[in-house]
Amino acid sequence: MRGTSRPTALRLADRMSDYQDMPSKYQLGYKYCPRYMAYYRTEGARCPRCHVILRARPRKRGRRGQPAAVTPPRELLEEKLNP
Ligand SMILES: [Zn+2]
Repeated sequence: MRGTSRPTALRLADRMSDYQDMPSKYQLGYKYCPRYMAYYRTEGARCPRCHVILRARPRKRGRRGQPAAVTPPRELLEEKLNP
């Protein structure tokens, strides 16, 4: 008899509720340029400035076998607040 309950799924759902607070620019038609680390509103698949392929949707949620989403270290966030 196998155990079918997977607490990992519950933890993921918990984390996802955190992200719902963040505004999704992707839903507003923006795409993300990883090179300039900026959002552009364009219908093209590539960045109008550097022609890098833009990310049009949030990162994929962890595949099976990959570690679950990692909580970003607070230090990184604080660095952005205090340049
Ligand atoms: Zn770019």
